[in-house]
Amino acid sequence: MVVGKASWRESCGIFGTYAPGEEVARLTFFALFALQHRGQESSGIATSDGKRIRLYAGMGLVSQVFNEAALSQLPGIIAIGHNRYSTTGSSRLINAQPILVKGAQGEIALGHNGNIVNAGLLRRELEEQGYHFSTSTDSEVIANLILASPGQTWPEKVACAMPRLQGAYSMVILTPEALIGVRDPLGVRPLCLGSVNDGWVIASESCALDHIGASFLREVEPGEVVVTGANGIDSFKGIESQHKAICVFEYIYFARPDSVINGRLLYQARQIMGEELAEEYPVAADIVTGIPDSATAAGIGYAQKSGIPFSEVLLKNRYAVRTFIEPDQRIRELGVRLKFNPLPQVLKGKQLIIVDDSIVRGTTTPRVIGLLRKAGAKEIHVRVCAPPIRYPCFFGVDMATQWELIAARKSIPQIREFIGADSLGYLSLEGLIKAIGLPRDVFCLACLTGEYPIPVQLEMDKLALESLPRGVS
Ligand code: AMP
Repeated sequence: MVVGKASWRESCGIFGTYAPGEEVARLTFFALFALQHRGQESSGIATSDGKRIRLYAGMGLVSQVFNEAALSQLPGIIAIGHNRYSTTGSSRLINAQPILVKGAQGEIALGHNGNIVNAGLLRRELEEQGYHFSTSTDSEVIANLILASPGQTWPEKVACAMPRLQGAYSMVILTPEALIGVRDPLGVRPLCLGSVNDGWVIASESCALDHIGASFLREVEPGEVVVTGANGIDSFKGIESQHKAICVFEYIYFARPDSVINGRLLYQARQIMGEELAEEYPVAADIVTGIPDSATAAGIGYAQKSGIPFSEVLLKNRYAVRTFIEPDQRIRELGVRLKFNPLPQVLKGKQLIIVDDSIVRGTTTPRVIGLLRKAGAKEIHVRVCAPPIRYPCFFGVDMATQWELIAARKSIPQIREFIGADSLGYLSLEGLIKAIGLPRDVFCLACLTGEYPIPVQLEMDKLALESLPRGVS
């Protein structure tokens, strides 16, 4: 994330591999390609041939940043890669990752997914010690903190830095000789471990492993440090995990439906969210649909449970990037039209249920409803896979500031009116937890409940927000 004004505004995809004999840069390229949904603003790969680290990063999609010429500049036996997204103010190449830092003990490259809430404080401390910063990211703070931490080896230094870091950090770290994977003690962001031929891979999501033909071994545990190198694989607890705070939004929207997180295939979890919605908010209609692609599984679940046929009614341009990621509101608004094209022949005169994963700022839904009405839909009933998002995320998902969150400012009846739906139903927290099938206390539910796993500074009066009415409208 970016320290300062534009804070808590990014989430990212990370990957790393230690695989002598493989083309590690190419493997990383394909893994980043599979993790494109986690960040579309910049992409970078760092490799090591056992002695020297090389880095190549650029702005844009993975396929825009890398070509044969770029990959051929990245020989090696170890690689890490990073896809980044963020918003206004921080959209600069200088903030692209992996980040490369040099200290007395040598150099390391680091790719980070998450958000450190005490980054500003740590940065000031490090600056007082003489560390120089060339970016505005918390990832550079982490990298310099590792350099400044005591320890004979890089894993020791990493472990010494961990207790100082507050917040979310899933990381891949490249030293000249090893790949290190790290996950914060809360386990906020996902991170998994796999094997490929005689090597190892570490990735944000298991879908990246599937695409490159690697085998999934297990998740990196909260608080764990995994080290892979010439001596094989080693793992230790860098810091004790007192309790977990796995991001619930990864299940609702962020991760790909073909990924498995904590033993749960997201496609199935989302399908059950749709089933739960059908139970909680039934309504008579001709067709059910899920807003493609993120709510397709939930739409199918709703249709199966309700017995109302599922149909595609909006065709998505699969090459359109995620609208949310566009830095300014005008482009975001146009983005919805560029992304979806409705099917009037299917929609004309129909009562329609649309299932969506989430309403965040409330930009997308009214525009989608407008498109569907114009195409002839008679009634539009909106069902959302999660309770209203009323609180900002401080742990690495771009969710806007609290003032921008529509559910922080409006009640559910007001939101229904604003988006122009005939009815609106948000899945209950119980329904959501039931659909995911894990105990409630393993999640970070802060964006839904305002209960943060570690203390954060909220900008709005929480009590004022809690007085807003809930339920269906
Ligand atoms: P909004 O227009 O702000 O209400 O955006 C809501 C839509 O954007 C949802 O239906 C999701 O498909 C998508 N979305 C939700 N959260 C995010 C996020 N953090 N990053 C990118 N897209 C998101």
